[in-house]
Amino acid sequence: MNENITLRNRKLAAKVIKGLESRQMTGFYAETKEEALAKALELIPEGSSVSMGGGMSVHEIGLADKLKDGNYNFIDRDAYEDKREAMLLTYDCDFFLSSCNAITEDGVLVNIDGNANRVSAICQGPKHVLFIVGMNKVCDDVDGAMKRARNVAAPINAQRFGLSTPCSSTGSCMNCKSPDTICCQFLITRFSRHKDRISVILVNDNLGF
Ligand code: SF4
Repeated sequence: MNENITLRNRKLAAKVIKGLESRQMTGFYAETKEEALAKALELIPEGSSVSMGGGMSVHEIGLADKLKDGNYNFIDRDAYEDKREAMLLTYDCDFFLSSCNAITEDGVLVNIDGNANRVSAICQGPKHVLFIVGMNKVCDDVDGAMKRARNVAAPINAQRFGLSTPCSSTGSCMNCKSPDTICCQFLITRFSRHKDRISVILVNDNLGF
């Protein structure tokens, strides 16, 4: 990462972390993907049951592979024929891993979801939720975060899964009600009732989309 961007990200991350703390959430900043991986492994004790939504960032720092290969009970929903069984195990797990679609400078997390498995687990169920978030996802405010979620994250995800939505062809949100829409639920996490249930590792890198 360019030195000037790193300097900027360091200062911006401090602001985001302060915002998270004001909302009973915990923030950490990692200068590299390797540092982010080490911090995540420090936070997740061996023997924990761990599940995840479809977070690319979790894969990009190498965390999913480490957990699959390590001394953890990793609930890999792709390996389950019965997705409902995997979902119920997820709600009861020690750690749920995710990225977010956007985060504001004052620590509000924004996520959109089609099936709602991710946003529902963020809201309730898993004992801890750990977000891995590239600094590319930091937005000025909730409006900016919603715009990012709908015009950057959602179209790329729709294209990735080959969905038949307007944004798959236009690249930006057309506020559709297509049966394939992935924008069924919008979750704005502005406070954690359970102090420090939610942690965020901000990474000085471009992760996910
Ligand atoms: S509402 Fe429809 S067009 Fe807009 S981002 Fe979601 S899926 Fe795409």
